[in-house]
Amino acid sequence: MPELPEVEVTRQSFAERIRGSRVTAVRLGKPLRWPLGCEAKSLVGQTVGEVARRGKYLWLPLDAGGLLLHLGMSGSLAFMAQARAHGAHDHFDLVTTRGTLRLTDPRRFGAVVWSPGLQHGMAAKLLAGLGIEPFDAAFTGEHLHAALRRRRVAIKLALLSGSIVVGAGNIYACEALFLAGIDPRTRSERLSRPRCTALAAALRQTLGQALELGGSTLRNFRDAHGMSGAFQQHARVYGREGEPCLVCGTAIRRIVQAQRSTFFCPHCQRR
Ligand SMILES: [Zn+2]
Repeated sequence: MPELPEVEVTRQSFAERIRGSRVTAVRLGKPLRWPLGCEAKSLVGQTVGEVARRGKYLWLPLDAGGLLLHLGMSGSLAFMAQARAHGAHDHFDLVTTRGTLRLTDPRRFGAVVWSPGLQHGMAAKLLAGLGIEPFDAAFTGEHLHAALRRRRVAIKLALLSGSIVVGAGNIYACEALFLAGIDPRTRSERLSRPRCTALAAALRQTLGQALELGGSTLRNFRDAHGMSGAFQQHARVYGREGEPCLVCGTAIRRIVQAQRSTFFCPHCQRR
């Protein structure tokens, strides 16, 4: 599943090139998760603005409103100066004067939705429950501490929910908790402020490393899907059950929390 770093690297891969282009045609394939929400031909003639990201959504501003895009479980976006003939899994083409932005999505959980604005209509509805951005200056230990005090769940689950901070997908949540020395089963409301500060920094470090890696990975892969695989090769605990902890040598443990695998070092990570 594309995570925040993949989405951000995808954004960076075409934002500059598409900005200022004019939409010349729109092609819809099979239905995606939600309908487009406007007449496709009403987009023609509009100019594309600065592409932004919020959580795992991309926002493509147009003259009137904009398009909110999500990659779902298996989607990828490619911007091609010269579009190839579309295949069976290509379900949205935004043809512009600079090239074609194409969504390829075999499982069709992805979406392209028109909205009158980021704070209005469908966009406002879809983005309403999202937590703070991890690279936002306001995401501090203090902020995290205050938000976690109202949660009565294990810290790993609070991170995964995305309603406190976005971007902590399964692999990144495991890695950040290891870096911060926090047992993933620790109750959220019990985390002290200094430990929250360490966790906020660890999450930024983990996602920052993934973003850095993504830049180089994207040069070698057709789309962003190779990224989590590449990041996993650098993972300290994720996917390493039974292997020695890189810090203390204790065997890494795997447990299941809310149907997701959690990997951690029982010695380095404390409650
Ligand atoms: Zn250890």
